[in-house]
Amino acid sequence: MSNQVGEYVRLLLAPRTRIGTIKDTKIEHDQTVYLFHQDERFADQLGDYWAEEGDFEPCERPTDEYVAEINSLTVPEKVAQFLQANRPSAYCDTCIQKALNLKRHQQAQQAASGGAASGGFIRGAGTCSVCGKNVEVTHA
Ligand SMILES: [Zn+2]
Repeated sequence: MSNQVGEYVRLLLAPRTRIGTIKDTKIEHDQTVYLFHQDERFADQLGDYWAEEGDFEPCERPTDEYVAEINSLTVPEKVAQFLQANRPSAYCDTCIQKALNLKRHQQAQQAASGGAASGGFIRGAGTCSVCGKNVEVTHA
């Protein structure tokens, strides 16, 4: 097994902000699953959750400077980074909200539509790359 407890990993869905360690592993339906625990220095905390292999990749422990930079980003900046990092995948507002752990759906919607209006992103009817719904989606 390549992924060990205590190793630093980042979630592929949001690799710049969802960085943490593997706290535990267990076997579920003949597959190993991994308990992801986000680095507690990040302001936006995701609850611990069981991830599957392929949901994350190994990475270095982030520096304090890096964490401070991420913590100081505004919601539109976070959304922009997320869409650019995952380019050209399209996301619905709900999946952007979940990936970035935003408190309100409206924050994702405003940031995505605002970015589209200023020319940064493309927004329109399409299929969300996460949930597969045919709704209004945004991509970089
Ligand atoms: Zn979605």
